[in-house]
Amino acid sequence: MYRIQDSPETAWRLFQFIKTAFEESNINPIPLNYYLWYQYYKGDNPRFRQEMDELLKDEMGYNDRVGRRLYNDYFAVDSTSSEFDKALRRLINLMVKKLHSWNEKLDSHTQELEVSAQALKVKDLDITEVQKITHSVLHTANSMQETNREFQQQMLENTQEIQKLRQQLLAVQTQVLKDELTEVGNRKAYNLALEKLLMDALEDGFSACLIVTDIDHFKQFNDAYGHLIGDSVLRYFAKLIKRSQSDNEEIFRYGGEEFVIVLKHFTLEEAVKRAEDIRQKLSETHLKLKNSDQEIRAITASFGVAELREKVDDAESLFYRADRALYKAKHQGRNRVISEDQL
Ligand code: GH3
Ligand code: MG
Ligand code: MG
Repeated sequence: MYRIQDSPETAWRLFQFIKTAFEESNINPIPLNYYLWYQYYKGDNPRFRQEMDELLKDEMGYNDRVGRRLYNDYFAVDSTSSEFDKALRRLINLMVKKLHSWNEKLDSHTQELEVSAQALKVKDLDITEVQKITHSVLHTANSMQETNREFQQQMLENTQEIQKLRQQLLAVQTQVLKDELTEVGNRKAYNLALEKLLMDALEDGFSACLIVTDIDHFKQFNDAYGHLIGDSVLRYFAKLIKRSQSDNEEIFRYGGEEFVIVLKHFTLEEAVKRAEDIRQKLSETHLKLKNSDQEIRAITASFGVAELREKVDDAESLFYRADRALYKAKHQGRNRVISEDQL
């Protein structure tokens, strides 16, 4: 079994190795697969390796979907970034080492030049001696030029490698934080966003709100029209919210037919207004079935709104209040917005 030793050269060689392995086995060279195969060869997680070994026995055992599941089962978002961070740090260490060795080379060239300069200070030099010194200076200058050129080339290559790693990291993170169906952030992204919101709000003391919304009677809708049309409705709902999204808003699919909107610099009153606007737009929508003129039944959603309470709040308590308001909206007959001050 190929195992990664902790050196940047080996890590980089492994990336190349995986690339070839992907070409041979028809594995899609997407960042997520790179990440998983990197982990596989690295072999730190025995349970993951065992499952991969089993899957790879079967020619059709591994595909992107399986990869995504494995990722969710075995690796969290944080470990992705730290793995890539480590690879990046190794590469940077390598560059620093090279920089030192080039500096040493340049130092030795400088010393050679100093020796030549000292020799020139001696009086009564004959022409052959001057020629010898000139020759030596020229030689040193040429070596310096060569060293410099090599150095620049190597720096360029290393910079390109770092950029590649950065792009891979970014792509993995985006892929891992996005809900595939609706293309808004997923639950993981929501957790991260809220953590950041709480830290920022605490530091800067701004007001922030949370809207939790859930489509009404969606089970009945699925039963009447089927899951695929239900999926289109979820996509439509996410799009409708995104269409009027402001810079201070982030939208996430919390799960199933439930979405969360995080609103920075919003008062409770403003957030209620925003929720009301979405509610109204959705309830006024008349969706039609594709390839037919049949209008499908109206879709509505219920909304709960809560405001961040500085210093006393954490992610759970804020969500809990918005969710209780949502529950009340359902209880009062759905298709309405309830804020925490109506609880
Ligand atoms: P309520 O008004 O109380 O929210 O009723 P509801 O039927 O919407 O709530 P319930 O929690 O009973 O059912 C949620 C339904 O949402 C059940 C499930 O089939 C559907 N659902 C969850 N995720 C998806 C999805 O990804 N696609 C589709 N089409 N349906 C989904
Ligand atoms: Mg529902
Ligand atoms: Mg629900």
